[in-house]
Amino acid sequence: MSDAQVVVVGGGIAGLAAAAFLSGAAGGPARARVTVLEASGRVGGKLWGGEVGGVRVDLGAESVLARRPEAVELARAVGLGAELEPPTTAKAAIWTRGALRPLPGGQVMGVPGDLEALAASGVLTAEGLERARHERATEVGADVTIGRYVADRLGQEVVDRLVEPLLGGVYAGRAEEISLRAAVPQLLPIAQGGGSLVAGVHELASRPQVVGTPVFQGLRGGLGTLPEAVAAACVTAGVDLRTDTPVEELRRTPEGWRVVAGGEVLTADAVVLAVPAPAAARLLRADAPAAAAELDAVEYAGMALVTLAFRRADLTEPPSGSGFLVPPVDGRRIKASTFSSNKWGWLERSAPDAFLLRTSLGRHREDAVLALPDEELVARSLADLEEAIGLTARPYDTFVSRFTAGLPQYPVGHPDRVARVRAAAREVGALALCGAAYDGVGIPACIGSAAAAAAAIDKLLTPATGDGSTERTMGA
Ligand SMILES: Cc1cc2nc3c(=O)[nH]c(=O)nc-3n(C[C@H](O)[C@H](O)[C@H](O)COP(=O)(O)OP(=O)(O)OC[C@H]3O[C@@H](n4cnc5c(N)ncnc54)[C@H](O)[C@@H]3O)c2cc1C
Repeated sequence: MSDAQVVVVGGGIAGLAAAAFLSGAAGGPARARVTVLEASGRVGGKLWGGEVGGVRVDLGAESVLARRPEAVELARAVGLGAELEPPTTAKAAIWTRGALRPLPGGQVMGVPGDLEALAASGVLTAEGLERARHERATEVGADVTIGRYVADRLGQEVVDRLVEPLLGGVYAGRAEEISLRAAVPQLLPIAQGGGSLVAGVHELASRPQVVGTPVFQGLRGGLGTLPEAVAAACVTAGVDLRTDTPVEELRRTPEGWRVVAGGEVLTADAVVLAVPAPAAARLLRADAPAAAAELDAVEYAGMALVTLAFRRADLTEPPSGSGFLVPPVDGRRIKASTFSSNKWGWLERSAPDAFLLRTSLGRHREDAVLALPDEELVARSLADLEEAIGLTARPYDTFVSRFTAGLPQYPVGHPDRVARVRAAAREVGALALCGAAYDGVGIPACIGSAAAAAAAIDKLLTPATGDGSTERTMGA
C-alpha cells in the first residue's frame, strides 16, 4: 500500500463505498491510508436501520435496483451475500380516481409499454386511454423534460396518473422539470429515434436480461445493515472512521489538502467529497468557487417517512400487495405507502404478530410538510390509509424520519452541470466527487460514482512506471 493519505468526507453509502474501494475492504489491494469523516453520529446517511415497535426495520432507503450490479456486488464483498432477499411481492397499486388500481405491467418509470395492461388497470379515464392510443409525433433534441415529452406524445393524463407517481417515488420530483436524459436515459434513444414510444418501452421491458431477473433486492435485517457492514469491513482494513466529525473547512495546499474537522486539522494527499451538494458547495467555496456555484444550484426535495407498527390481531384484514403510489393530481396527503410486512419476507418472519407499513410525504418544493409535528404526519397518514384501504386500526408504535436534503433534482441540463463541476474539481486537483448529486440518485449509481472517484484518486496516487504508463489503475 502506498503511504498516501486520503480523506473521505461523508459516511453515507457513497463515502463508505469509496473508502472500501481505496482501503481494500471491498476486495483487491489497499491503495491508500483512508480516513472517513462523518458529521452525524452514525454512518449510512439515507440508509438507516432502527427499531419501531420492537421490530428492526429500515427508516430510510429499503431496496436496491438489482439490474445494476454495484450494490449487490458491494453487499457480497462485505459478507452480506447470503442476506440478499428480493421482495416477496411486487404487486403494487396506484391510488387514483377513488380506488386502488393495479400498476400496469410493462411500464418504465410510468411510461406504458402495454396499452392493454394499461386499459385493464383502470388507471386512466376512457379519454386519457383514447389519447394514449393515438401517439403524436414529437421531435426531441439533446434533452427534454419527461413530463413535456410524454404529455406531447401520449397525453397529459399518462403523465399525471402514471409518470408523476413513479417519478415521485424515486426523485420526489416533478415530471415537468426532470430531465429525460438524466433520470431515464434508456428512454432518450427511443425519444430521439422518433418511432413509437409505447413500442420502444415494450421492447425495453421485454429484453431477455430484464424479464425474469428480480428488479429489486433487499437485505435481511434491512438495507441499513449495508453501511454498517461496509463500515465494519473498512475498520478491519485499517480505515480511520470517525462519526460526529463534521468537516468545517477544506483548503488546497501545495502538498495536498488541509482538512479542518471537529476542531482538529488533518492533512491529506487527496480528498473524496461524498456529501450532498449544499455541503460540497460550502467546502469548495474557497478553492473551487466555480464548482461551488454550480453545486449551489442543485435543488433538493425534502421528504418524511412515517413508519407505523400495528398488531396483526388489531387488523380486520391485513392489506394485500406491496403498497401503493399516489398521483399528486388526486390531491391526497401522502405520496406512497409500502406494506413492509408484505413486501419483505424477512420482516414478516422476524415479527409474525406485527404488521409494519410506512408512508411517505413531501415532494420537491413542499418542504413545509417537514416542519409538521410527528403527530400530524402520523394523523395524515392514518387518514389517507383509512380512505385508501379501509385501515381503521391504531398503531402501537410510530416513527417519523425526516430528510431535509433528501433527493437531489435532475432538471434538463443536469449532466452538463455535473460535467462542469467535475472539470472545476479536476483543475483544483487531488479531488474527486461522488454521491447522489451527480450520476444518479439510486444506491447502485451512488456506489458506481464512488468506484469512479476511487479509481480517479488511485490513478493520481499511483506512481508512473517510467514507460509512460502507470503501475495500475483501479478497475472500478
Ligand atoms: C427517504 C429516502 C428513501 C430512499 N429510498 C431509496 C431506495 O429504496 N433505493 C435506492 O436505491 N435509493 C433510495 N433513496 C436514494 C438513496 O438512498 C440516496 O440517494 C443515497 O443513499 C445517497 O447516498 P450518499 O452517500 O450520496 O449521500 P448521503 O446518504 O446523504 O450521505 C452523505 C453523508 O455526508 C454527511 N455529511 C454532510 N456534510 C458533512 C460534512 N461537512 N462533514 C462530514 N460529513 C458530512 C451526512 O451526514 C451523510 O451521512 C432514498 C432516498 C431517501 C431520502
